[in-house]
Amino acid sequence: MTKEFFQFKIGEFDCISLYDGYHDYAIGTFFANVDRHDLDKALRARNWPTDRVKSPYASLYVDTGEHHILIDTGAGNFFPTTGRLASNLGKAGGDLAEIDEVVITHAHPDHIGGLLNDDGTPTYPNARVCTMETEWDFWLAEDAVEKVPGFDLAIQLAHKVFDTIGDRFSFVQPDDELVPGIRVLAAFGHTPGHFAVEASSSGESVIYISDAIFHPLHIEHPDWLPDAMFIFDTEQFQKTARRLLAQAVAKNALVLGMHFPPFPSLGRINEIDGVLQWQPILVSQ
Ligand SMILES: [Zn+2]
Repeated sequence: MTKEFFQFKIGEFDCISLYDGYHDYAIGTFFANVDRHDLDKALRARNWPTDRVKSPYASLYVDTGEHHILIDTGAGNFFPTTGRLASNLGKAGGDLAEIDEVVITHAHPDHIGGLLNDDGTPTYPNARVCTMETEWDFWLAEDAVEKVPGFDLAIQLAHKVFDTIGDRFSFVQPDDELVPGIRVLAAFGHTPGHFAVEASSSGESVIYISDAIFHPLHIEHPDWLPDAMFIFDTEQFQKTARRLLAQAVAKNALVLGMHFPPFPSLGRINEIDGVLQWQPILVSQ
């Protein structure tokens, strides 16, 4: 069984990588433009399946001592294999009512689905929800269904979430400090208002990159791209990945990739002879 949460320290902050569940993706969703032989070789070298990507969904919880922050909420009941985040937070000793900030890095279902309980009420009753206005303008636009084909269910969910908790949304900008030590990092490209989050304390930091990079193999192979359906702007998407990776290397920061197998989806970036490599934190499952 996959571990359900992983606790770690960043300076004075108590952090948890929280498991929401997983989803099986077609291999082409993560690696759309890659020579099949090269891809199979790279996947086999890591003992990963070659026919699909079993992607964990990992969110980041930070207890700063003064604030309780959850970054992304998992998919809720959008998939049958997801929706465990809130109960896993409870198992890790957290309290949903204590969370005062929920940060939504973008409006895709696997990041916003957990904002609502099965009965449609807010999961985090006392939280302000920090997000970017451009993101919601895009998904809630009247012509969104025509502009982004294949996202009908995602758009429906975005409307449902916005109608329920929109008045508790607080719109943020790149470089905003949400609470002391928690900062918004611009990470446009995956979607129009996608951002990353850095939590820093006592000279240490963890960067939650959300979907700026889909999979550890994209770190070593920056030209390998996911399906175009999941990239709003390719040039920005690639620039964002390069910048976040350079920041992580410069700070020796921990990185949490929301979709990175295996859970807890945490690691560091090493630069060896000019090539970036993913150095995962491995936890016995
Ligand atoms: Zn995602």
